[in-house]
This record gives sequence, structure tokens and C-alpha cells, in this order.
Amino acid sequence: MRPSERLDRIPPYLFAGLEKKIAEKKAAGIDVISLGIGDPDTPTPPVVVEALQSAVNDPGTHQYPSNRGRPEFREAIARFYDRRFGVTLDPDTEVIPAIGAKECIFNLNLAFLDPGTAALAADPGYPVYTGGPLLVGAEPVLMPLLPEGGFAPDLDAIPEADRERARLMFLNYPNNPTGAVAPDGLFERAVEFAGANDILMVHDASYTETTYDGYVAPSFLETPGSKDVGVEVFSLSKGYNMTGWRTAAIVGNAEALEHYWRLKTNIDSGNFDAVQLAAVAALDRADSAVREMSIVYKRRRDLVCDALGEIGVDVEPPRGTIYVWAPVPEGYDSASYCEHVLEESAVVVSPGSAFGPNGEGFFRISLTVADERLAEAVERLRSRGQHDRGGPDLSYP
Ligand SMILES: *Cc1c(COP(=O)(O)O)cnc(C)c1O
Repeated sequence: MRPSERLDRIPPYLFAGLEKKIAEKKAAGIDVISLGIGDPDTPTPPVVVEALQSAVNDPGTHQYPSNRGRPEFREAIARFYDRRFGVTLDPDTEVIPAIGAKECIFNLNLAFLDPGTAALAADPGYPVYTGGPLLVGAEPVLMPLLPEGGFAPDLDAIPEADRERARLMFLNYPNNPTGAVAPDGLFERAVEFAGANDILMVHDASYTETTYDGYVAPSFLETPGSKDVGVEVFSLSKGYNMTGWRTAAIVGNAEALEHYWRLKTNIDSGNFDAVQLAAVAALDRADSAVREMSIVYKRRRDLVCDALGEIGVDVEPPRGTIYVWAPVPEGYDSASYCEHVLEESAVVVSPGSAFGPNGEGFFRISLTVADERLAEAVERLRSRGQHDRGGPDLSYP
């Protein structure tokens, strides 16, 4: 059997390798704590589960859904955007449901890229921003996100040739994996850049509802002119503990949505109607559950950041997302450190290099495990790391 050349262009999915190693350890009876994958550990809010239960009792939800989405869902997204961001959306032309942000982002590549064109992708960044372009025969052009730049891309540094072939740009704030929030002025510059270079701006809003310390994340669509040049992909996965439900929406530029929809009608058959109705309950009635989750993650974030601080690793506590992004200790690169941690402490953390070349030198800790387990993981890193170096003075593993 021979897979397609396009499939051979992409590196193996980051977590596939990790999952295999974890399974091996677990099979050997080792108590592995995984801080690798960002997947909320607490249940979906009851108000959402109950809405699904009653929706699924109605046979009217059992047939093929419309790819355009139920009016109730599109209207709920519009209500939410108005209430939460002060952004007005036309539910008929500016909202379409997606089977998760991942589907949506991948399909945007298919809808807007051809061989010879490119997508501007954050490095480090969510793997689909680079895998997507490769799979459709186009190129990802990496935009470094550096600590000294507040993990924002330097748009002025993008070469003329790349501006010309780029059709898409992916931004994501609050940011996975760095935990950074959107620096002042970035969205404004992005709107200008997209307009000047005829690029569709795609803002991945997977973490706008998960923020700390009083920080309230904006929608990209709050930026003047944004709707002329861009779309936003709003996911319910992380903020509402709904990763398994596969529900998101693409909102913004109506022409872009029309192309996306035309593509989608050829690929999938929409979101389960009952899930769309449950998402309405989430958007309308789960604010308090979402706030509750941010309190939980903030507590865990502080636990991790304090522990790292104690062993000499300075990390700025992130103001959003479910991740802590930390530098690896001297003597390691990202991969060797993560392997070391798995071998010595049976703790899984993600190597920064898996998110792009500029992730090298970092590792990512996910906050999606119970407090006790997280505390245990941090303690293991501390104690076994000391043991490993053979002395209490070299306290960081
Ligand atoms: C988790 C994540 C996604 C995927 O979200 P789904 O809606 O579950 O597909 C997309 N983008 C980023 C940045 C993520 O962290």
C-alpha cells in the first residue's frame, strides 16, 4: 500500500508518539501522570448535558443536519458575541457551525490554498497551522513567536515574496502553547497587513473564555476593519469542557464563510442537531460554570508556577489558556528533557520543539489534571530531578 505524497509531507502527529510511550509505561504497571495533552478533566456543565438529553429525545434531531447549522445555534452564537464581545454578527451570513476548530482550520486550508501559495503560521503553534498547508500541497511560512516579542509575530519582518504567495494567516490568542495574550496593537496591525496583502486572517479563539487575574480576552472581531479581512474560529471545547462534543463556529467575513461552506458541503454532513442545541445552552447559560473552571485552572497554574519558581525556573504566570510554557533546564533540549522527565518521574510533558522550531528550549505543562495529581507530578519533578543530578544543590532536574 502506498500513502499519498501529501501525507508523507507531514511529520507524525505530535501526541501519537507520546501516547505510545505512555501506553508502554502503563502496561508495565507504572503510575504515569500525563501533563501532555490539553483536554479538560472536569465534566461538561450539567446544563449542557441536560440540554443534550432533552434534544436527543426529539426525533427531529436524528436526521442529517444542515451544513449551514440550525438557526437556534447561529442565533445563539450571535447573541453570545454581542453580549461577550460587543460584536454584531448576522446569524444568516456570518456564522456557520464547525465540527471543532480543528476541522474548521484544516478545511480553511483546503478552501483557500493551492500549490504555490502559502499560509503564515505561528511558530511555535497549534500543529494544524502547518500540517494543514502541507496536506493540501501548499507551504506553511513560519512566523517566530519569541519571548522578547511578547510571543507576537513581527509582521514587518515577513519577506515580500512570502507576503505575495500567502493567502492565509493564523493567529491564536490567548495562545497555545505559550500562554501569551494578544499584545496591544497586534490585531490592528494584523488587519492592516491582511488588507494590504490580500490575506484572509484566521483568528483561532480556542481560549478566550479561559483567563486569569482579571484579564478578559478580546475577540479578533472587536478590531475595526477585521470583518473585511478575517474570520474567527470560536471553539467550545476548552472553555466549556466540551472537547468530545466537537463543536465550534466560524464567524466573520461572509464571503469567506460562503467558500468554507461550499467546501464543507463536499466533505462532511454537519454537526449533530442535538449537539447544536446543547451548544445553545452552553452559550446562553453556562457562564458561571466557565468562570468556575478559570478559578480551578488559576489555582493549578499557581501551584505549577510556584513549584517551578522554587526550583529556580522563572516563568511568568500565563493570563490565559490551560498551559504553562517553561524553559528547559540547562544541559537539555526540549526532546531530551521530556524523555528524561518521563523516564525518571513518569510524568508526561510536551516538548516545545513539537510545536515548531522556535519552541525548542521550552516544554509545555497542561493544567488539565486534578490538583492532587498535579501536585504529585510537580513533587516528582523536584525530588527525582535532584536525585538524578546526585546533589541537593542542583535542585532543578
Ligand atoms: C484545542 C485547540 C484546538 C482544537 O479545538 P477543537 O474545537 O476541539 O477542534 C484548536 N486550536 C487550538 C489553539 C487549540 O489549542
